[in-house]
Amino acid sequence: MLERPCTLAAAVGNTPLIQLRRVTAGLPEGVEVYAKAEHLNPGGSVKDRAALNMLRDGERRGALHPGKTILDATSGNTGIAYAMLGAALGYPVTLCLPRNASPERKKLLRVYGAEIIETDPLEATDGAQRLAKQLAAEQPETYFYPDQYNNDANWQAHYNGTGLEIWEQTQGRVTHFLAGLGTSGTFVGTARRLKALSPTVQCIAMQPDSPLHGLEGMKHMATALVPGIYDPTLADANVEVATEAAQAMARRLVREEGLFVGVSAGANVVATLELARTLPPGSVVVTILCDAGTRYLSDHLWDEGKRT
Ligand code: PMP
Repeated sequence: MLERPCTLAAAVGNTPLIQLRRVTAGLPEGVEVYAKAEHLNPGGSVKDRAALNMLRDGERRGALHPGKTILDATSGNTGIAYAMLGAALGYPVTLCLPRNASPERKKLLRVYGAEIIETDPLEATDGAQRLAKQLAAEQPETYFYPDQYNNDANWQAHYNGTGLEIWEQTQGRVTHFLAGLGTSGTFVGTARRLKALSPTVQCIAMQPDSPLHGLEGMKHMATALVPGIYDPTLADANVEVATEAAQAMARRLVREEGLFVGVSAGANVVATLELARTLPPGSVVVTILCDAGTRYLSDHLWDEGKRT
């Protein structure tokens, strides 16, 4: 049955859970691998959920109201979500982001009507975060500053949405959940809900293997500002993925599964398959496809596959 008409905001979430059938070749019999298709959100990423919940929470608290401008620091996907939702809900949007964010990102943000303030790429997202914080402190009447790294409404979007959806879509059969860490909202909220529903669900946190990684949106926790919402006690295991392996998997996902997703999704699937290889029959492993590959079309990572 088709859904009834709704608002753009109501179209966020309730994404499909897609079974991976070809990149999973050679896994032990009876191990199932599923990917939550967050790239199918209206803004093209998992961050639509967190952004919407932080804006709704701000409205409920009276911190966000007509006349205010949404301000935050973002490597891209949260910014796109704010820009899209700001347009739909009637709020101007100002974003601080490192100058080296991808050209598609910046263009898309400007297309949605957002203002961009560029920060020093050497300081990565930490520099952008510092500037947003400073502007918000200087002009509290002008700006609504959700501060996604320290805002409980970020992980709660996944507690109330992603985690519950995965539970329902697997009919409670999920045994393992794996996600990468950026703000950590996806991992923390989803893991917390799944463990509340069944304490035996194993939750695995994935990180890039180097501070100089090319996994957009991901944090190397040992060298980054650790987000206030991060709760390391939720991770039953921590794994690292190399950029090259993540890029190769992003190419395989589009060519073998028809899933055109970004490199952090590739990294999640690399780590998920490594885990799945070690599991007994009856295991049901779920990971996240964080964003759409269209966002990185100008990257060379897609060309390389021609040579293989
Ligand atoms: N992948 C991409 C491409 C992202 O932009 C983000 C958000 N930073 C993540 C993964 C991680 O999501 P979270 O912030 O919920 O940890």
